[in-house]
Amino acid sequence: MIRDRASKAAIRAGRDPAEVQLMAVSKFQPRASIDEVLASGITLLGESRVQEVREKYLPPAPALQEGVELHFIGRLQRNKVKQAVKACSALGSLDRDELIPDLVRSCEQEEKILPVFFELNSGEKNKAGYADFDALSRGVERALATDRLKVSGLMTMAPLTSDEHEIRVAFRSLAACRELLFRRFAVPSLELSMGMSSDFEIAIEEGATIIRVGTLLFDGVQT
Ligand SMILES: *Cc1c(COP(=O)(O)O)cnc(C)c1O
Repeated sequence: MIRDRASKAAIRAGRDPAEVQLMAVSKFQPRASIDEVLASGITLLGESRVQEVREKYLPPAPALQEGVELHFIGRLQRNKVKQAVKACSALGSLDRDELIPDLVRSCEQEEKILPVFFELNSGEKNKAGYADFDALSRGVERALATDRLKVSGLMTMAPLTSDEHEIRVAFRSLAACRELLFRRFAVPSLELSMGMSSDFEIAIEEGATIIRVGTLLFDGVQT
């Protein structure tokens, strides 16, 4: 049903539905429910607390099957960077420059290259994220100068409002940021991670390539 609605939104916007990946946001869900959702063909999970990541996916919990990716999408504390880098396949919510040196150090220890998504703050109500394009662009420049971080995309959360126009404006700003980054840096492609249970169709209309859905997916509704 989510996939159906997502496909229709893509087609409405003249896009190929295959361009939009569905991330199952599995925070607060027990591993059993997550495994059920994975059985339906989902290959991308999002978690927002490091402790939950540890409990649900690291030994003694069973490892995730091959091909399933786990993105960390919460506000990451510096003292948890190492654990997040170890357990996750990407940081889907890089919200401040302060984290970059810690991320690089942990990647060196783990001998990995970490895909990161830069988070743009799209309103006063949600405080995480870079305040504007210039700040975000400087962060991207820093990340590109490292050989451990891969700049994979941009992410935002719409402001907490029922005003559809305001939500759309936030998503449109993220898409505009991507265009500016393409002009400024030699990055071949960038994902747009935006849209949740209540606004994923608007996000798809505005160019989302990853939608992050929790409530709607896990509340007994089928994918
Ligand atoms: C919880 C969460 C989501 C999913 O929200 P729902 O409204 O449950 O779909 C998406 N992105 C982030 C960053 C989240 O923390």
